[in-house]
Amino acid sequence: MIYEVAIIGGGVVGTAILNKLTRVNVKSILVEKNSDVATETSKANSGIVHAGFDAKPGTLKAKLNVRGAKLFPKLCEELKVPLVQNGALVIGNDLEKVKELYNRGIKNGVDGLEILDRNAILKKLPSITQNITCGLFAKTSAIVSPYKLAIALAEESVINGATIMFNFNTKEFKKIDNYYCLSDGINEVYAKKIVIACGGEHNSIAKILGAKTYNIEFRRGEYFLLDKGAVALNGFTVFPLPSEHSKGILVSPTVHGNVIVGPTSILSNDNSTITTQKGLDEITEKANELLSNVDLRKNIRIFSGVRTIVGDDFVIEKDPNNTDIINVTGICSPGLTACPAIAEEVLNLLGIENKENTMQRRYEPQKISNLSKEKINELIKENSNYGKIICRCEMISEAEIIDAIHSPLKPISLDGIKRRTRAGMGRCQGGFCFMKVMELIARERGISIDEVTKENQNSRIIVGNIK
Ligand SMILES: Cc1cc2nc3c(=O)[nH]c(=O)nc-3n(C[C@H](O)[C@H](O)[C@H](O)COP(=O)(O)OP(=O)(O)OC[C@H]3O[C@@H](n4cnc5c(N)ncnc54)[C@H](O)[C@@H]3O)c2cc1C
Repeated sequence: MIYEVAIIGGGVVGTAILNKLTRVNVKSILVEKNSDVATETSKANSGIVHAGFDAKPGTLKAKLNVRGAKLFPKLCEELKVPLVQNGALVIGNDLEKVKELYNRGIKNGVDGLEILDRNAILKKLPSITQNITCGLFAKTSAIVSPYKLAIALAEESVINGATIMFNFNTKEFKKIDNYYCLSDGINEVYAKKIVIACGGEHNSIAKILGAKTYNIEFRRGEYFLLDKGAVALNGFTVFPLPSEHSKGILVSPTVHGNVIVGPTSILSNDNSTITTQKGLDEITEKANELLSNVDLRKNIRIFSGVRTIVGDDFVIEKDPNNTDIINVTGICSPGLTACPAIAEEVLNLLGIENKENTMQRRYEPQKISNLSKEKINELIKENSNYGKIICRCEMISEAEIIDAIHSPLKPISLDGIKRRTRAGMGRCQGGFCFMKVMELIARERGISIDEVTKENQNSRIIVGNIK
């Protein structure tokens, strides 16, 4: 089959493009080198839907941030992805900088901005430190789970006829008549147009496709993830005033009730996701400058994600050497926020009209942790697997894990199940449930337990018998 469009890369950007193309009825395929969507930068970021006051007016970043943030509520409702409009407080002691941010926001077309003095901030958030004298309140700032979004975008696309190929590491490219062939050395994919949405790996793909390479810089962002309710934030995301290189180290609730503290912005040679004592010390110091109640002893995980940066703006353009290729790179923050608007931009470059069809909506399985005891009892009467709790920290039942294993993208790994159900995301980080989840994956997929992986094909957990 020859697809109209092939997208390389299954982060939030690639999946948003696939979803948009499917909604406008363009037969498309996405190839991803890993075994699931959102396994790289799109799973390791702050999960903020930024209001849009930070980006420099006139840039693509500013335009697509504000447009993306406006598209988010309807998109999340359609995809059944939880989005919480919690509002953000940007706090510090430099009123001129606060005014600058406010004016930038107004120029970018952001609604609901307000400059606050110390007393007004204290009313919203009593735990600010003595350093804080002024701030900006952004009412429209929201929080979302980035990997849940990518999964939902991909699932809805697949349900409506799109194709996704995992474990497809693009290695070869050739032109055949009026279309192209992408190959990973084993499988071949045919398409008339190609979109490169590979994040930090743009240049290696561009070399294979003969497309333009860019001067890419990597900035690593390290985080603490704290236990649920670890810091009383009255719901708000709290930022410092931004620096030249980042929006600074924030303290924010997540949509699941945890607290995230970070990220750093460390210039790196590559996109490896290490964490360092230096980075964690910096987070500790900066978070304590903002708030007096950040208790990092409540940490349950540290992690990092890497920003792909090309100059000062996003790159979304037709390739100068081959106009059948669209280059999408340099999608650093606010790329999550902008992803639905990036998809519109790509559609425009492909010369396709933005006229959506009616879509078959995805089904979001029941989560017993959100239900009353009465409702859980009703479910158990219908299906006793709802009564078998596998993940005690997050209250995830066997029925939910089985649902996830058979969901449209057919996740094959422990981490794939974790991103869909939260089994293993709680305080014990899978210490109690990971073996049970492995057994369920093996049983439901009809494979042996030593074939179950943590994430990709080479991440086997059991490597052999000792007896
Ligand atoms: C620390 C940090 C904090 C951030 N916070 C926010 C925030 O709060 N709000 C916000 O709006 N944005 C935020 N961002 C930005 C946001 O996370 C990114 O813009 C977004 O995730 C980029 O998505 P992507 O799809 O371009 O890249 P990725 O998620 O990296 O996806 C690229 C995909 O391409 C695949 N790929 C690579 N090579 C190949 C190949 N050869 N063949 C097939 N597939 C391939 C990769 O496996 C990967 O899945 C943050 C970023 C970082 C790093």
